[in-house]
Amino acid sequence: MKEFNREALRWALTNAVEHKGHADVKSVVGKLIATRPEFKSKIKQLMETVEKVVKEVNKFSLEEQRAKLQALGVVEAPKREERRGLPELPDVDKYPKVVTRFAPNPNGPLHIGHVRAAFLSYEYARKYGGKFILRFEDTNPANAMLEMYDKIREDLRWLGIKWDEEYLQSDRLEIYYKHAEGLLKAGGAYICTCDVMKFRRLRDRGKPCPCRGLPASEQLKRWRAMLEGRYQEERGVVRVKTDLKHPNPAVRDWPALRVVTANHPRVGNRYRVWPLYNFSVAIDDHEMGVTHVIRGKEHVVNELRQRFLFDHLGWRYPTAVQYGRLTIGGAVLSKTQTMKGIRSGEFSGYDDPRLGTIAALRRRGFLPETIRQVILDLGPTPVDSALSWETLAAYNRRAADARANRYFFVPNAVKLIVKGAPKMREVHVRLHPSHPERSERVLPLFYEGDSLVVYISGEDAASLREGQVIRLKDFMNVQIKSRKPLEADFHSRELTEGPKIQWVSAGAVEADVIKPDGSHEVGLAEPAVADLFVGDILQFERYGFARVDAKSPKFVVSYAHR
Ligand SMILES: [Zn+2]
Repeated sequence: MKEFNREALRWALTNAVEHKGHADVKSVVGKLIATRPEFKSKIKQLMETVEKVVKEVNKFSLEEQRAKLQALGVVEAPKREERRGLPELPDVDKYPKVVTRFAPNPNGPLHIGHVRAAFLSYEYARKYGGKFILRFEDTNPANAMLEMYDKIREDLRWLGIKWDEEYLQSDRLEIYYKHAEGLLKAGGAYICTCDVMKFRRLRDRGKPCPCRGLPASEQLKRWRAMLEGRYQEERGVVRVKTDLKHPNPAVRDWPALRVVTANHPRVGNRYRVWPLYNFSVAIDDHEMGVTHVIRGKEHVVNELRQRFLFDHLGWRYPTAVQYGRLTIGGAVLSKTQTMKGIRSGEFSGYDDPRLGTIAALRRRGFLPETIRQVILDLGPTPVDSALSWETLAAYNRRAADARANRYFFVPNAVKLIVKGAPKMREVHVRLHPSHPERSERVLPLFYEGDSLVVYISGEDAASLREGQVIRLKDFMNVQIKSRKPLEADFHSRELTEGPKIQWVSAGAVEADVIKPDGSHEVGLAEPAVADLFVGDILQFERYGFARVDAKSPKFVVSYAHR
């Protein structure tokens, strides 16, 4: 009867989700009989149950119905038109070829927010048969990290993002110098040697500092002095001339290049003058022929700044597409917090499950196609979005369900003695219920004298009642005889309606599960997990999806989601 209700609920929810939140009694009954012909004999009872269940289900919102369906462990069938296309980019016909770029700063790991820029830029370039550029923006010697270049490349490759060209800004200093010199000569920029506070006071009142009006000959003299290392940090700043009355003081005469004495991890102490973000970005976007800049809307002020530079140089500003911020429920995204936590040992590394980094998502068993699909479905919408782990899990479940083979895992294992069970050596079970071609896994059995010994989860053990008949899944039914010690009698082999419980017996493997909050849960997994490789995605039945994290000295998986 319980099973009956469950199945009715399942099909009512499925039907509701497929029909804009409204389930239909006849369709649900039809589905039930088609999938479970044995229910046909109880048709009257079936109709009554379904009517009641459908009425309940139709009271919920579509979102609630989806959530309930997921809670039942039912995977929604992927919609036929899975890939909603990205909206068209503006101005495509104005350019001979679309060129986009992803420009990470190698000062920390990529997280899901960055990857939005990467995927959108990449997918748009592909959509229009254009070019996609990877550009490392590493012109701050003090924060560029040598290990990050490869980590970022590795993350992008894993996500399936391929770039046509790669540049490192730290290799391009001469190009920035050439343009800076040209600007100084032409009067589009000047070198300010004022105290920063003094400059700001003047700027905030819309007044020029004394350096602004000096002739080009003096600017070039200062420029040579700057390159020769004769200025202290914070004392030689190349500023781009803008409108000193611009309503936003932060736009007024913004800094373009400055003196930095720290060594750069790639090019050492070869340069003492380094461009600031807006300058190198503007020069590179033009030099690299970038047509569409797809970026977070927090860059709006930067665009205002850069437009002055484009005007000085007589260049056309690329088409900008702005999208909103993307956060992911509770995960740490801030670079500062991430780095601090790693240094202090609070996080185990860049792939600590509490982080929203790509490395952490990968380690937890999220698939690259999941991340891609989530980002593409969001598109370049300008509103801020908070991605929930539930949404991410729902996408991933869809992607991982067919791939992940099934295994038994019993957390906090408790021994169960079964008396009177038939003597057998092993039980064979399919690796995946819908993929018989993947062959079977073997669960060897262990006896103490005449009694079969199995282990079940502590939670299951605590829920059992004396006299209750339970099914050791894919094996046999047993009747609980005593709870302490936990003992049962063999009952029968054929499938019954009782609760199905995962179990292990001989050769069980100790398994350590890393949970999303960084905690651990230990238990026993069936011996077939020994055939898995690090990186494989699996499903522990009734427990959740996970990814093999390590095989020795211990079998460790990191938990993804239900
Ligand atoms: Zn000045």
